[in-house]
Amino acid sequence: MANPNPNPLSIIIVGAGIGGLSAAIALRQNGHTVSVLEKSPYIKDLGVAMHIPPNATGCLLTLGIDPSEHNAVKPSVLTQFTHNGEVMHREDIVAKSGMWQHPWYFMNRSSLHRALRKKAEDVGVNVVMDAEFNVTGVEGLHGESVTVKYGSGMKTGDLVIAADGIGSRLRGVVAPDAKLVPSGKSAYRFMVARSLVSKGLLREEGGEMWIWKGPDRRVVCYATEDNQSFNLVAIHPDSDDWSEKDRWGKPGDVQKLLSTFSGFTDDCLDILKLAEPQTLMIWRLLDMLPLDTWVKGRLALLGDAAHPFLPYQGQGASQALEDATSLAVVLPFGVKPDEVEEMLKLYETCRLERAHRIQEYTRISGQDHGQGVDMSKYTPYNFGHDEGQHSSGILQKWMGEMEREVKRENPIGPILPCNSV
Ligand SMILES: Cc1cc2nc3c(=O)[nH]c(=O)nc-3n(C[C@H](O)[C@H](O)[C@H](O)COP(=O)(O)OP(=O)(O)OC[C@H]3O[C@@H](n4cnc5c(N)ncnc54)[C@H](O)[C@@H]3O)c2cc1C
Repeated sequence: MANPNPNPLSIIIVGAGIGGLSAAIALRQNGHTVSVLEKSPYIKDLGVAMHIPPNATGCLLTLGIDPSEHNAVKPSVLTQFTHNGEVMHREDIVAKSGMWQHPWYFMNRSSLHRALRKKAEDVGVNVVMDAEFNVTGVEGLHGESVTVKYGSGMKTGDLVIAADGIGSRLRGVVAPDAKLVPSGKSAYRFMVARSLVSKGLLREEGGEMWIWKGPDRRVVCYATEDNQSFNLVAIHPDSDDWSEKDRWGKPGDVQKLLSTFSGFTDDCLDILKLAEPQTLMIWRLLDMLPLDTWVKGRLALLGDAAHPFLPYQGQGASQALEDATSLAVVLPFGVKPDEVEEMLKLYETCRLERAHRIQEYTRISGQDHGQGVDMSKYTPYNFGHDEGQHSSGILQKWMGEMEREVKRENPIGPILPCNSV
């Protein structure tokens, strides 16, 4: 693979979500030409927060995005209660934080999305967002180039990354039998101002995370936005009617939320009562059996398109970020167009087993009985991982076995530390 006349690859990414934008930045930083096609004309302001665990923080720092510069909050203490308020477990996160190579954060989802969008534009990614760019198909998977079709147009490149989310259209090209299945649960999500939460549970240093768990429902609440807000996720048996249009979320009903959790302790109910009808949303939680493969020729799936996540371990976005990091390792500047198919297979080798294993841990964490809510059991595997190092190790081994060399040559733009090959 030592290429005497290296050219950038022309890469098309479908979907400007967290995974698509992360991959676009990382691959552009490698020196490739990257276009992102997004069907939604604006970044959806979902007004909710998410976990950025240490394994995801490492990926973001490599992209040049530091969550601490975007009002993210470091957790201090995690307290798990029964639904009637007895303490089941308390964990000092600050004391444990030295165990991981990067900090753990709670971050507003829209802030992360905006930071990714800005970084992508700053490094020269071509991001187009319009209903016109609703990608409908892909052709030439095993040819010399690959073409995506959208609206009235088409675009040709050396490879396509399908980062089109949980409802992925391109997933069907790789895995025609894949099907999303209801998990049996849905989740209310909303934010409340910290100043409205009664003082009893609050800690001076902020960074609180509380979980109240009943037999078949739970409420997760954590600090975010510079400790000015709390993010709430209230998961319960799904009893809603879901039409096609609100398949990915719809407005929630405050009275229904309160009656669903009526048996919960007052500390929890007092916070649920702060939900505002204008911002309360409810999401149906969908799952999918693991795919046998994420790659077909010049097309690779990434993020929720490859592995949709239930929310019980806060790893959905992290795994999309790890996918992006891995792609950047196996596709350095200098890879030739006719080598793309085998490098995408290598990406799958790096990522598939870990993402599927975390999906399975997530399902176990979400069980009503059994290990239940004990997230800490899986924390070392989830958190203690550096995808840049992991993928680089696999690439090095592969090069040895194949007696091949993959070299970074004459990169344009800043170099990713993970690409030391
Ligand atoms: C409300 C909410 C809260 C969440 N909270 C957490 C959390 O706390 N922790 C966590 O780790 N994860 C969380 N997740 C999950 C996490 O956001 C996803 O795992 C992550 O966003 C996956 O990124 P993605 O890029 O694969 O997909 P997405 O972010 O869903 O992006 C997919 C993009 O593709 C676009 N698209 C779809 N089809 C097409 C098409 N045909 N053509 C062009 N564009 C298309 C969509 O418009 C979208 O912009 C949450 C998700 C939601 C919705």
